[in-house]
Amino acid sequence: MEVSCPVAPADDWVVRTAGEVRAEAERRHPGEAPTCASGISPSGPVHLGNLRELTTPHFVADEVRKQGVPCRHILSWDDYDRLRRVPAGFPESFAEHIGRPLTAVPDPCGQHQNWAEHFKEPLRESLARLGIRVTEISQTQMYTSGAYTGQIILAMRRRADIGAVLARYQTRRSAEPDDDEPRNATGEYYPFKPYCASCGRDDTTVTGFDDETTQITYT
Ligand SMILES: [Zn+2]
Repeated sequence: MEVSCPVAPADDWVVRTAGEVRAEAERRHPGEAPTCASGISPSGPVHLGNLRELTTPHFVADEVRKQGVPCRHILSWDDYDRLRRVPAGFPESFAEHIGRPLTAVPDPCGQHQNWAEHFKEPLRESLARLGIRVTEISQTQMYTSGAYTGQIILAMRRRADIGAVLARYQTRRSAEPDDDEPRNATGEYYPFKPYCASCGRDDTTVTGFDDETTQITYT
């Protein structure tokens, strides 16, 4: 059965965007498959609103593939994010893990590897049912494998330059207590904040960085 579409293909944002993606991918990385990207922080139950994050790139990636071009849709799991709060319906005892990476928080049901995996699984099942094909990337794996170490060291060495740029646009400090405040008490800016090596939380304040040895000190 033929179903007529009220939107002309040329006016369709998916077709238009797929064309832009192919052209931009060819300009930046000639001969390589274009990449569409989604990102989800598996910090609590993944709700319908999170689906838009995935469906928008999916429609575009799907259209690129329909046009006969391979296309990669990556799903970046922001599972190295800190646990910010205990979601409603979960025991308050999890509050002791606030500030730890989502992959370092225990699984609430006992059947998954950790907190993050507990919330990834139902989304994976939904994506499979919807036919949304993604290549998963774990940011825990990326950070702990050292994939970003070079960029982090570069940012730390250029912290004064970065801090000066930020200061031009920063009008006031955030009122939210757990908001990322990258300046320490003496007003120095550090673009990187470590998870504490002893308690695993990120309630840390960087007190120094040795540009030569790359040794970081924090309290
Ligand atoms: Zn679980």
